[in-house]
Amino acid sequence: MRLQEYQGKELFRRVGISVSEGQIATTPQEAEEIARTLGGAVVVKAQVLVGGRGKAGGVKLAQTPAEARAHAEKILQMSIKGERVRKVLITRAVEIEREFYLSITIDRSAKQPVVIFSAEGGIEIEELAKTHPEKIIKFHIHPLVGLQGYQVRTALFQAKLDPKWMTPLSEIFFKLYEAFTRYRAHLVEINPLALTRDGRWLAVDAKVMIDDDDVPSELAGWEAEELASSSEERAAREADLQYVKLDGSIGIIGNGAGLVMSTLDLVALNGGRPANFLDIGGGANAEVMKQALKIVLSDSQVRGLFINIFGGITRCDEVARGLVATQQELGIRVPMVVRLTGTNEIEGRRILQEHGITPVAGMEEGAAEIVRRVSHNI
Ligand code: GDP
Ligand code: MN
Repeated sequence: MRLQEYQGKELFRRVGISVSEGQIATTPQEAEEIARTLGGAVVVKAQVLVGGRGKAGGVKLAQTPAEARAHAEKILQMSIKGERVRKVLITRAVEIEREFYLSITIDRSAKQPVVIFSAEGGIEIEELAKTHPEKIIKFHIHPLVGLQGYQVRTALFQAKLDPKWMTPLSEIFFKLYEAFTRYRAHLVEINPLALTRDGRWLAVDAKVMIDDDDVPSELAGWEAEELASSSEERAAREADLQYVKLDGSIGIIGNGAGLVMSTLDLVALNGGRPANFLDIGGGANAEVMKQALKIVLSDSQVRGLFINIFGGITRCDEVARGLVATQQELGIRVPMVVRLTGTNEIEGRRILQEHGITPVAGMEEGAAEIVRRVSHNI
């Protein structure tokens, strides 16, 4: 799971990394009060789990409490890449002298944590990797030995930084590594790590991902809702479904992770962009299908649905009943392509056909069909 910026900052604070001071608001009034308490200029920041908030207009500078209120009012009504903004973080604006990038993540092919540092922070690291790969410094951490001082010094020398920055910066490397291990994170990222005009080092942003199956006890008290990802992901977890939101327009429902993955691939091969991954698992019934449809359709970016069911323990007639019932209940308007095969498939297809849904015979055909219909709006 990915933490919100303010939660990531709380973890940073606990390991001794300074963060820009701030508080959460859920209403414009609260935003105004917080801004007044902080005094001076503030930054109003949408708390969403998707990247590029700044570019999307979700990060705004306010000179006065009234301005903070106005920004909060706008931002709290926004959806960024399909995610509704429910909270804003109000931070004291800092004057930035220079922005850096620092992260620790797991390099799966090397089977070791990797530290990534750049003296050019602020912009997205993927972007920097494309345009100026030479400005990115990377090194691995041996999991048994841990982060070593010489590694940090080598990296900082390589970056040709002012020698007086060595000590404070290397302290941040060690504190971030402490956060990475203590919270058993997949990723801890500070972008930008700012050197302020008055000489302080602050994490202006925080991105933290934690292993869902290994949440440290220190975070156990944090509300499940707070730790959740998008609202759809939250609903899916409650319904015991495996859902991952993506940023395309074709909603995908299937049974079995492998089948769903190949469905995503086929849609992409045909030029479509999947909106999600959703595995309804084995033994799915009408009710489960209904839940799944509701979750996928609550994503406003969905323009079409591709349902790919291989019936085994899951019975095709049950799935078809769920589909038909939900279609009637929700009045599904987007194009829907269904591939049903396996146990009770004949009965399943008959139920669909009776209700005006023509199933496709194979998944290749289905993927091509949904992409065609979504791109032509039919
Ligand atoms: P992101 O767009 O989701 O990465 O959000 P960030 O928290 O990283 O903010 C985007 C950008 O806004 C940062 O890279 C900074 O350049 C800028 N920014 C955010 N807070 C401040 C601040 O307090 N002072 C200044 N000068 N810039 C800020
Ligand atoms: Mn950022």
